Parts: sequence; structure tokens; C-alpha cells
Amino acid sequence: MIRCAVFKSYLICLLAAAAILFTTCSRKITESRSPDTRPANIVLIFADDLGYGDLSCYGQEKYKTPHLDKMAEEGIRFTNFYVSQAVCSASRASLLTGCYANRVGVAGAFMPTDSVGLHPQETTLAELVKQRGYATAIYGKWHLGHLPEFLPTRQGFDEYFGIPYSNDMWPKHPNNEHFNFPELPVLEGEKVVRYLPDNQDSLTTWYTQRAVDFIGRNKDQPFFLYLAHSMPHVPLFVSGRFRGKSGAGLYGDVIMEIDWSAGQVMEALEKNGLTENTLVIFTSDNGPWLSYGAHSGVTGPLREGKGTVFEGGVRVPFIAKWPARIPAGAIQSQPAATIDLFPTLARWLQAALPSQPIDGKDIAPLLLAEKGARNPHESYFFYYKQNELEGMLSGDGRWKLYFPHTYRSLEGRQGRDDGLPIPYNYGVKVGLELYDLQEDISETNDVIDTHPVQAKTMKALADSLRMDLGDSLTDKKGKGLRPLGVYGQ
Ligand code: MG
Repeated sequence: MIRCAVFKSYLICLLAAAAILFTTCSRKITESRSPDTRPANIVLIFADDLGYGDLSCYGQEKYKTPHLDKMAEEGIRFTNFYVSQAVCSASRASLLTGCYANRVGVAGAFMPTDSVGLHPQETTLAELVKQRGYATAIYGKWHLGHLPEFLPTRQGFDEYFGIPYSNDMWPKHPNNEHFNFPELPVLEGEKVVRYLPDNQDSLTTWYTQRAVDFIGRNKDQPFFLYLAHSMPHVPLFVSGRFRGKSGAGLYGDVIMEIDWSAGQVMEALEKNGLTENTLVIFTSDNGPWLSYGAHSGVTGPLREGKGTVFEGGVRVPFIAKWPARIPAGAIQSQPAATIDLFPTLARWLQAALPSQPIDGKDIAPLLLAEKGARNPHESYFFYYKQNELEGMLSGDGRWKLYFPHTYRSLEGRQGRDDGLPIPYNYGVKVGLELYDLQEDISETNDVIDTHPVQAKTMKALADSLRMDLGDSLTDKKGKGLRPLGVYGQ
């Protein structure tokens, strides 16, 4: 009997131990599987006119950007990341559709007087993630059409709060001789909830508060948050908490506040237990608007800035953090571009690509810092103005070829420090020129005569692209161009 009781208690202990072991194991399995079973959240932070040299982790020494530096330390930092065009609306069209902006009919920056927008039939990133049931929001600058049928709420976003175009399209812009538009509206959904009659000090704070609130409200379902800052586009504004704090003038204060904002987003993710399985991306729509002098950013070693296809216009900071998938502290020197985010996310989410062609390619191996990963493109192409193919980059990121065109430059002149621009010379010429970015990141030495085969190979690729997307510099009409949305049509 005694022996039987001992055996019974032994059996009970054994079963209890097995049960504990099973529970622990199954919890571990569930935990390790959760990043796969629940799609990752996506947070895309997009600065406006922030230059390649504007963050400490990209060499800025006049002020610090601790939150973005930390994000880079915990994730990956790209050294050769590109936008498709160095201007607001075109760059945003590429980011959200995975297409060269001219493919979807978008050029330049839309004005409040325009009646156009990204065509409602184009598929945006927000519509892509909607296939997987994501909650979606944009807080900040839209700039892909301010009339009702073009608003974010018609392009896959559940929520919108922000301004519909650039913050200089405002009657109080210091340079209002050129930007004398009606009051700048702030929209909530599709309704104007206020105008900005006095200043824009609160914009960064408002966008950030909305972003933090959205994360908290959606912690139990996958979400896509697009935080599209209006800053540091001129006219510069900063909240009282950061005014005078950087020790590097108003521009430094503004970047400090954007850095703070990124920190707030990270903190909200952490607080809601979402850090591990959230992909956070920080980048910019184009390089700095150099004619604004001390009110513009810097490009580090890169040539020219916004409004040109030189490196200072189209190469931007890019940081991504996703602890579940991206190794900490990675640096990626392969090129990549905003057009690639759409197909990369589509594959991760197992979402269907649109039936119409897109230009981006899946760069997951680059984003995940896989050893030996190579960029999948033969070339990236840089259009500007009305469908001018002005430059291209080889797929390995080494060679930049320019086609003859005119561009704007300060030609070495320094801008002012009071928020007013100095005039560009818009007629500066570049010929058929080739630069070796590996040896000459500042594009000072044209090597086309010593590398004719490289130039010829790239020119052939450009010729085939012109059949598809056209080129007004060589008077080619493309077959693959799609229409811009026109209000009422
Ligand atoms: Mg911009």
C-alpha cells in the first residue's frame, strides 16, 4: 500500500513536471512564432527636405540626434539610399506607389491652385497593406492632391490629420512674393478643422501626439503609420520646448524636435509591447533646399541639393529598425531606393501587387543585411522637371551618368541666415558626364573619357527605358506612362 502511494505521488509529480514543461515549451513556440503569425507593424517616418548630412549618425556635428542614432544602432543604416526625384510630390508618389513618379504622371510639387492629384486608380502602400487588414493612418504632409477625390482617405488611409501640401504655400511665408497662397488648411479626415493664421510651431508636436495615440489604439492589430513631417521644409518652425536648445540655430532646433518625435514613437511602441515586431523606417523626401542658407540642411560631401539629380538632391538618410528580423548595428552600402519599399513590403505581407507595372524591386535581403546581398536593379533612373531623364545610377551604386541638361545651382555662393532665399542660377549646364562615386563621392571628376564602355552600357539601358517612360530631353514619348488624376475627370 505504502509502496503504491509513493508510486502514485511519484506519478503525479512526473505528470505535473511534464505539464509545466509542455506549457513552457508551447509558450516559447507561440512566442517565437508570433512575429510570423501576426504581420509586422510598419511605421514610416518621412522628413521633408532633410539632407544627407543632417543626422549625427550621418556625420552632423553641430547638434545631436540621439534617438535616430540609437535607432541606427539597433537596426540598419543605409549609406546609398535614393529617392526617385528631388522634389516633394514626385518623391512622395514614388514612395507610396513603388513607381517612378513620371510613370504615374506626377511631376514637381503640386500647388494649392492645381486641380490634380495622384490618380485614384493607383495602388498606394496603404491600399497594399489593407489587403492584410491593417489599420492605416497618415499624420502630416500629404502633397498628392488636396481636392477631395485625391485625399489620403481615398487612397487607403483610415485616418488623416495634417496639411495637404507644403508648409510654404502659406500667406505668411517670409518669401511670400512667390508663395502667396490662401491660408494653410489643417485637415482631419476630409474636413478642414483649422487654418494656420499665426505660426506653425505646433505642427511637429501635433503629428507626434497623433502618432503615439494611434499606436496605443491599434496595439492589438497590425497597423501602418505614415508620419510625414512638414519640417524641416521652410518656413522653419519649432515648439517652445526646443527653441534655442540645439545651440546650432533654428535648423538644429527643428531637427532636434524631429529626433524627439522619433523617440516618442519608439517609446510608444515599447510601452505597448510592439517594439520587436514593428518595422520602423526613417528617411527624407529629398535633399536640402540650399538657397535658404542657414534655414536649409546640409548634404555632407554630396554635390548640389534639392531640385537637382546630383547626389545632394536624391541621396538621403535611411534608417530601419525591426528587432525580429534586422540585425542590430548593420550598415548597408548597396544602393536602394524608395520605389523598392512597396514590392518589398508586398512580399513580406504576401499581398498581391497591382496589375499595372511598378518599377521597384524586392530589396528584402538588403534590408535584412543578408551576407553578400546585392541590389537587384541594373540601374536607377532620375527624372526631373517635365519628364526629363537627367541622370542614372548603376545597380552596384558605383557609377552615376548624367545626360546633357541645365540645372539650378548657387555656384558656391552661401545663403542668408534669416530665412529668406538667395536666387539660384537656373541655367547651369552639365554635359554627358560620368562619375565614379566609389572614388569621388562629391562628383568633381568627370571620367567619361577613361570609362567609355561603362558609359555605353548605361546609355543602352537608358535607351530601353525611354521606350517605356519617354524622355523630353531627347523627345521620346513613352508607352508606359499613366495619367495624372485630374479633378472631376
Ligand atoms: Mg521635400
